[in-house]
Amino acid sequence: MPWRRWLFLESIKGRKDLDPFYGLESPRGLNFQIIEIFNHQPVRIIMYIDNELCQKCLDCLPVCPVAAIKARNHRIEIDYDECVECGVCRRLRICKEKAIMQVKEIPYPRLLRQVFSDPTKNHPTTGVLGRGTEEMKTNDITNIFTKGYIGFSVELGRPGLGARLSELDKVTRKVTEMGVVFAKDNPVIPLIQDMKTGALLPEILGEKVLSAIAEFLVEEPRALNLIRELTAFLDSELDTVATLSVIERADENGRSVFYEKLKDQGFHPYPNGKVNIGLAKGAS
Ligand code: SF4
Ligand code: SF4
Repeated sequence: MPWRRWLFLESIKGRKDLDPFYGLESPRGLNFQIIEIFNHQPVRIIMYIDNELCQKCLDCLPVCPVAAIKARNHRIEIDYDECVECGVCRRLRICKEKAIMQVKEIPYPRLLRQVFSDPTKNHPTTGVLGRGTEEMKTNDITNIFTKGYIGFSVELGRPGLGARLSELDKVTRKVTEMGVVFAKDNPVIPLIQDMKTGALLPEILGEKVLSAIAEFLVEEPRALNLIRELTAFLDSELDTVATLSVIERADENGRSVFYEKLKDQGFHPYPNGKVNIGLAKGAS
């Protein structure tokens, strides 16, 4: 740590109005990634609990989807490494003491946690709320998944675990190696540093999100083999939960031929549909 920064942090030690570690869980000196200093003012960059207001009622502990709120050493703390900045603990207004605080601006790359986890925030690249993808369910309007192709989505992190972006990096590298085409407007695409390898930006790999969805297409004749290889890869290589979904446009009789093929090959697909009302533009 530069000595000027150390000197500055020492000088504001213990001051609630200035000390970025005031009320935070980790020992001073270890958590410098949780603050930024702008114009010599420390600025918190994470969700946190004001332990002067907190009455330790424990009501907030069960509401966190990734169990990042913890009772430790007679304090209630948010584990900054586990917190995905989803905002649930604040939005539910569970804390009568108003002790749960969220900073106004979360800097990059931590901002990606909020972008992929908070359903009330617009994704900056797609303009879609939440994880930033309209997903397959809007295909009647978007026509991203076209005839002759099978569309895929790999969702990481749900339910209940969340996922580091390093896990997403494994998936984007693997499917790039398998020669897929990423779906247009998928919010994962701007995170890819090298489209030839599928490697994500190195500075984001440690960030944790509630869920991230990679969407892509392959020609129909290649789809069964891709499913076999990809499911084996997801089973063996990932350190979180994953859901693999496929989409095919129905034929003129409303049937999915690929669904029948999947069953013939011993897969057990769970067909489902989801209809979003009000997506179409009004007639003019
Ligand atoms: S709900 Fe509020 S007062 Fe209760 S433990 Fe959580 S932060 Fe503290
Ligand atoms: S913002 Fe979300 S992940 Fe972070 S402590 Fe609150 S509920 Fe948990």
